[in-house]
Amino acid sequence: MRAALDESLHTDLAAMAKAGTLKTFRHITGPMDTEVTMAEMGGRVLVLSSNNYLGLADHPEVVAAGKKALDEYGAGTASVRFICGTFSVHGQIETALAQLSHTESALTYVSCWAANTGLIPAVAGEEDALISDALNHASLIDGCRGAKAKRFVYKHSDMADLEAKLADVKGARRVFIVTDGVFSMEGDIARLPDIVALARKYDVSVILDDSHGTGVMGKHGRGTAEHFGVEGQIDIVTGTLGKALGGAAGGYVAGSKMLVDYLQQVSRPQLFSNALPATIAASAMKAVEILEREPGRVERLHAITRKLRDGLKARGFKPLEGESAIVPIIVGDTAFAIRMSKELLSEGIFITGFGYPVVPEGTARLRIQACAALSDAQIDFALATFEKVGKKLGVI
Ligand SMILES: *Cc1c(COP(=O)(O)O)cnc(C)c1O
Repeated sequence: MRAALDESLHTDLAAMAKAGTLKTFRHITGPMDTEVTMAEMGGRVLVLSSNNYLGLADHPEVVAAGKKALDEYGAGTASVRFICGTFSVHGQIETALAQLSHTESALTYVSCWAANTGLIPAVAGEEDALISDALNHASLIDGCRGAKAKRFVYKHSDMADLEAKLADVKGARRVFIVTDGVFSMEGDIARLPDIVALARKYDVSVILDDSHGTGVMGKHGRGTAEHFGVEGQIDIVTGTLGKALGGAAGGYVAGSKMLVDYLQQVSRPQLFSNALPATIAASAMKAVEILEREPGRVERLHAITRKLRDGLKARGFKPLEGESAIVPIIVGDTAFAIRMSKELLSEGIFITGFGYPVVPEGTARLRIQACAALSDAQIDFALATFEKVGKKLGVI
């Protein structure tokens, strides 16, 4: 039985290998930073594809806060929240996240994946409707699939299509527009002011997953809502602690106190899965504090993103347009993206190529992500290396 299963799995894996789409895992032997030590390379490489937007993943204060919490609370709660797993540090981080999101309340999960898949089926039942952007993150898609509500998908950022779907769902008890703030594979941002206006017009709620927006978008890094000046107008914001906010893990849902009270009662990961470890909550608390204390970090991130984007364009690349810290370059098929990523690695730049099934075949890409901690010299090196590899492979 088992041998047959393995054989069948091997057939699938061999097909991926033949198509050149098999992912390789690189092994990092130290902390995530602008440079990491990679086992395979026997040395340091520049990282341009982490979500460590603010450079806080190995910030000494973020690390120290985690260690202190480990001493104070031990390794974890050994419990879900409602049994015996609600520690004071949970209350502290949830207050901080609610303030950051301009909402009354917030509730943590062990990841944003858990937050989205725990939120959407809990609030959207049989009598309800979900209208989601076609390019939403997989966790929002799975959250919608797991809900009993009627599901509609609107063309990416197409407000006319969204409005047509809104007009279609008359009679539903609750209706939610579901969108990413920053779309992770494109790096473009949701048309939030239009979405908020449509939500008002049709009296429906908005769920905004701002995982790539928090710490990145807006003057103070409060996210896509700050960027557009619509803070406090989003019903439900979800996000991750695993990107700009320390980079460890953890996610949250921010919204009204009523919403949080309700999720505490019925959201399945809250009832059946362990609470967020205290160490991570404390590290993320420190990350939020640094974000608020050092607005210069967000400014620097914005300046670095511009420099990367302009430098790539000046060298003949055509990155997708956008205002986030994600700068994707479409290179064609999956195998080619993987090849380019290998070439870059041999020159000392670590950037993973994305292909099918993460993005549609033919639109494989290298997704460059900026980090506030990158030095000017590192950016110059990156641009020169991109030019060298781009020329060698005939991309520019
Ligand atoms: C990264 C990401 C997630 C998943 O976050 P985790 O905390 O790592 O589970 C969810 N939604 C979006 C939009 C993301 O970019």
